[in-house]
Amino acid sequence: MSLISIVVPCYNEEAVLPFFRDEILKITDGMIEKSPELSFEFLFINDGSADKTLSVLREYGEADERFKYVSFSRNFGKESAIYAGLSNAKGDYVVLMDADLQHPPEIIPEMYKAVVEDDFDCAATRRVSRSGDSKVLSFFSNSFYKINNAISPTSVMSGAQDFRFMKRRMVDAILSMSEYSRFSKGIFAWVGFDTRYIEVKNTPRKAGKTSWNFGKLLSYSIDGFTGFSTAPLRLASFLGILSCIAAVVATVIILIRFIITGETSGGYYTLLCTILLLGGFQLLSIGILGEYLSKTYLETKHRPIYIVKEQKL
Ligand code: UDP
Ligand code: MG
Repeated sequence: MSLISIVVPCYNEEAVLPFFRDEILKITDGMIEKSPELSFEFLFINDGSADKTLSVLREYGEADERFKYVSFSRNFGKESAIYAGLSNAKGDYVVLMDADLQHPPEIIPEMYKAVVEDDFDCAATRRVSRSGDSKVLSFFSNSFYKINNAISPTSVMSGAQDFRFMKRRMVDAILSMSEYSRFSKGIFAWVGFDTRYIEVKNTPRKAGKTSWNFGKLLSYSIDGFTGFSTAPLRLASFLGILSCIAAVVATVIILIRFIITGETSGGYYTLLCTILLLGGFQLLSIGILGEYLSKTYLETKHRPIYIVKEQKL
């Protein structure tokens, strides 16, 4: 017998859950028919939804004992929901997927094949087309991967999604990273293991609406940079060296000009630009320091990653 846990973070997903349940049952029933040794559990994480998500989950739990849930005391974010899901999943294999059917359940059998038959530790989807997304967003997203992979020792596969089918050993490795500021894309890459990427097209949300906006995405990518790379901290030293060199060159030029022409009066604009540039360098460096300091501050508090209000396991 092998148990597969399907872990689903949910934030205000009451509209889409009935579709999700139908789809996932269709696929998993098909898999059980083919391989009767398989069994499933469906673990939903209610991440402090303001709608009726929790009552829907309670209802599912009563109707079918394989449907389980963990409900948070407030919204802790998808990263915390993923951690709670992986912590409570009992399966030999764990599938992590979104509730909105943007992660099509039809791919699960293919992932199963990659992990169980072809012996990969993980199968993940990777979107190759961004049709339906705005050009601006795609540009920033691509730039994120480029910058991240240039400055960070942990390179993240461009377009890799959180839709993953993992072996128990990879799940345990992820759980051993109990940091407070979680950036799953980085964590999946950092733990290593052999991953097969299955290329998929962008699928629109089935119902409900996304909780992401540009501001959230920007702060998510900053978490990505600071969580896995210390290169930005070196930027301050680099800028410092650069302005020292500029200072020496400028001094030499002014000195030579004074010896030859006797001219001392400097330009007002040159001075203004220099002050602004140096001020900019300094504030930027302090800002970067602040980013790392704030991360360290939150880590040292050892706060729980999530708080459970109610659960059915
Ligand atoms: N989600 C969550 N907590 C949050 C935001 C989102 O658990 O604070 C869940 C959400 O219910 C969905 C998944 O994370 O199952 C992806 O969210 P969404 O569809 O809003 O993001 P997108 O697909 O647009 O990246
Ligand atoms: Mg979505």
